[in-house]
Amino acid sequence: MSASAIPFDGNAIASVTQCFLGETHRLLIGGEWVEGSGELETRDPATGLVLAKFQTGGAAEIDRAVKAARTAFEGPWGRMTVAERTALLHKLARVMDANATLLTELDVIDNGMPRFIAGLTTANCVEMIDYYSGAVMRIEGTTIAPPRHIAAETEALTYTLREPVGVAGQIVPWNVPLSTAILKLAPALAAGCTVVMKPSEETPLSVLALGRMILESGIPTGVVNIVNGLGAEAGQALAEHPGVDKISFTGSTATGRKIVQAALGNLKKVSLELGGKSPVVVMPDADLSLAIPGVAMATFFLQGQNCMAGTRIFAHAAIHDELMDGVAAFAGGMKLGHGLDFATMQGPLISAAHTAKVMGYIDRAKADGLTVVAGGEQLDRPGNFVQPTIFSGCDNSMPLMREEIFGPVMAVQKIETDDLDAIAALANDTPYGLSGSVWTRDLSTAHRLVKRIRAGHVSINCHGAVGTNIPFGGYGQSGWGREFGQEGLDGYLETKAITARL
Ligand code: NAD
Repeated sequence: MSASAIPFDGNAIASVTQCFLGETHRLLIGGEWVEGSGELETRDPATGLVLAKFQTGGAAEIDRAVKAARTAFEGPWGRMTVAERTALLHKLARVMDANATLLTELDVIDNGMPRFIAGLTTANCVEMIDYYSGAVMRIEGTTIAPPRHIAAETEALTYTLREPVGVAGQIVPWNVPLSTAILKLAPALAAGCTVVMKPSEETPLSVLALGRMILESGIPTGVVNIVNGLGAEAGQALAEHPGVDKISFTGSTATGRKIVQAALGNLKKVSLELGGKSPVVVMPDADLSLAIPGVAMATFFLQGQNCMAGTRIFAHAAIHDELMDGVAAFAGGMKLGHGLDFATMQGPLISAAHTAKVMGYIDRAKADGLTVVAGGEQLDRPGNFVQPTIFSGCDNSMPLMREEIFGPVMAVQKIETDDLDAIAALANDTPYGLSGSVWTRDLSTAHRLVKRIRAGHVSINCHGAVGTNIPFGGYGQSGWGREFGQEGLDGYLETKAITARL
């Protein structure tokens, strides 16, 4: 990636963001900003210019952070009342809300995402903390009939308590940096856990700003620790650490396998949110005025760097050509540019290396003779810009239809059948199972088809309809467990059964 001479392509950032970039970015351990043992730099993917240097840690810093989290867990945090924990989370949400511009702009310039997306995800993060602050008071056990051998002798009482898992290690990716951090942090804190978080080395900034807000909100020392660093060093050390009770990971399926291996030592609990290759089925009776923009954004939202991206399109022959014309026109009309520009609909990809990988898929598909319906080129400008790209004439055996490209590349397969089992078999012909969508006006077709699709999150006449209170996670190789909603909280709670002879 060549660098532009003009910071942010001439777009302005707020003075608070400018000041933040100029500061020293250390590790947050035990309530203090401490020196790391290494240093990396992070760049604006739209221009290639360095945004900031940040300090990094390895096994030694992770060990220190885990010990700080353990001390906090066994100290004041573990002894707080639920009302106190609720109030602190509520305060954190207010502090974040007051700093929304900083958080939003940091994700735009560090990740490349358009401002309209970053603004939405910052607002969702505030909502998520408020949601889980309310959930603290709804953590409930049950009463159960006592065991037969005790009840035969005496009156007895059996009940359950929900207790925090302990110290949680949280490893997050770069594609929605603040959001993936908060959707792990909020339920962990609500449950009463303490946390060591390892942000992505590609996008450290918004979580570092969050660290300041955590201190400002009065959350006790050591409850949240933030250690930036490389995955193979800091991430691996966190996943292996015997003092960590649970590891929550979001990232690629390949790294997910390493996390499982690393967690074996102390058999820590593991939750995984991994990759996807989600199917989008467009039936003959679909409302194309909805389906055309909906299918386009299923693929191109977040530059396609989206675990839920609907990139395998099964378009029924009856509407295939009209859908292709519409989606191609939509893609051609998307304004590419710096995420800070309010008109931008698609920003840059995260890095030059990732862009080369995405272009490799595009070039191979062209060489294989697939039809380019839209896009297909990298922009000849600084930064990592790839046009929204559509290939038709695909079939389910091709890499374009099978592998997670994580870029703005749509693969379209024409289908002739109306048989829902046959369509579902195509949709399910993947090792993944994260998301999917079905586009039809027929209620019966819609519900019968979504029932047949094996994925954790399927939408009808929309795509990727995630929400704070809606469980999210994958079937198959898309992961283990669920985040968001009540199930997201359950992942940070143990159940203790107690029987008392009375
Ligand atoms: P990645 O797997 O390369 O990295 C994710 C995180 O893991 C980073 O913080 C990285 O430093 C760390 N890491 C890397 N190697 C590690 C190791 N050996 N041990 C411990 N940690 C390690 O993923 P990425 O490129 O940052 O993100 C893109 C991937 O994330 C895509 O596959 C996408 O589908 C997936 N994702 C999934 C969801 C979901 O909810 N299912 C959400 C967002 C992204």
